[in-house]
Amino acid sequence: MQKIKHIGLFTSGGDAPGMNACIRAVVRTALYNGLFVTGIHEGYQGMLDNKLEPMNSRSVSNIIQLGGTILKTARCKEFRTLEGRKRAYANIMAAGIDALVAIGGDGTFTGAEIFSREFNIPVIGIPGTIDNDLYGTDFTLGFDTAANTVIEAIDKIRDTAAAHDRLFFVEVMGRDSGCIALNAGIAGGAEAILLPERSTALEELIKQLENASGKKTSTIVIVAEGEENGGAYNVAKHVKDHFDFYDTKVTILGHLQRGGAPSSFDRVLASRLGFAAVNQLLEGNTRIMVGLRGNMIKTTSLEESLNNKEFKLADDMMTMCNILSI
Ligand code: ATP
Repeated sequence: MQKIKHIGLFTSGGDAPGMNACIRAVVRTALYNGLFVTGIHEGYQGMLDNKLEPMNSRSVSNIIQLGGTILKTARCKEFRTLEGRKRAYANIMAAGIDALVAIGGDGTFTGAEIFSREFNIPVIGIPGTIDNDLYGTDFTLGFDTAANTVIEAIDKIRDTAAAHDRLFFVEVMGRDSGCIALNAGIAGGAEAILLPERSTALEELIKQLENASGKKTSTIVIVAEGEENGGAYNVAKHVKDHFDFYDTKVTILGHLQRGGAPSSFDRVLASRLGFAAVNQLLEGNTRIMVGLRGNMIKTTSLEESLNNKEFKLADDMMTMCNILSI
């Protein structure tokens, strides 16, 4: 086993609060262990464009509390081709990088897994996405912050909904994952939740809302953007004629869910995962993701994490949410 000397670190895919805290942890753990660190700006695109920056302890001063990512992030089509990956490899070899730490979601890990196999370069993945949709970790970086941002918005919407007898459809992020929607629904006391992973007949939803109406001064339905009826506007259009006594409104929370200072939970998780990622490389491990399971740092092979699409949302949570909103 050849000892690694120089880590290339990047963030890729969707940005998530906590990425900066994680960058800080990787850089400082690596420096402590006598390694060099190069920050690769804009993910795989930066590898292709040679956007490389040597990092020291001061490069990551004062960033633990910042949302976004100081290394920037990007989506890169060219990296999906062998030609593109060859060019990326040549660039990082020329910079002396002999191992990679990738912070991102499943797309990022797919690229990292392929790249690592093709060019035999060690790589560790750190789950960074607000979607909380990766197998092998109870939480991904950014989910807790995004969930708290959403709940703050829903609390405000509840105030105005109650003041005017309004029926609100609130659309939250989640093209394929309903984690944010489910969490928001439970924590915000929603009357109904629509998830991408579940089929919801609109007739069922109407029945559910009819049961709630008359008893309540406000009704909130949380709609994940990727649910099958086409999002909050479409659902509201179909449902609103049944509830003419309500003033029906739609709010799309959009990108504000991605920004903001990371929560205490995300900062600690980011620090633990960044620290663990460097230690895994030092132990000679590769093609694994570091994650949190039962409050312990655990590793899962990238392959297993990518292939296992085990449904993360427990059915009992949906049932509980319905019961608690009667
Ligand atoms: P999020 O979950 O927040 O969207 P992500 O990491 O899944 O984050 P993607 O846009 O899916 O975001 O992937 C990030 C980048 O990973 C892509 O732009 C691409 O460069 C690379 N990538 C994704 N899939 C592949 C693949 N099959 N082969 C090579 N590279 C890939």
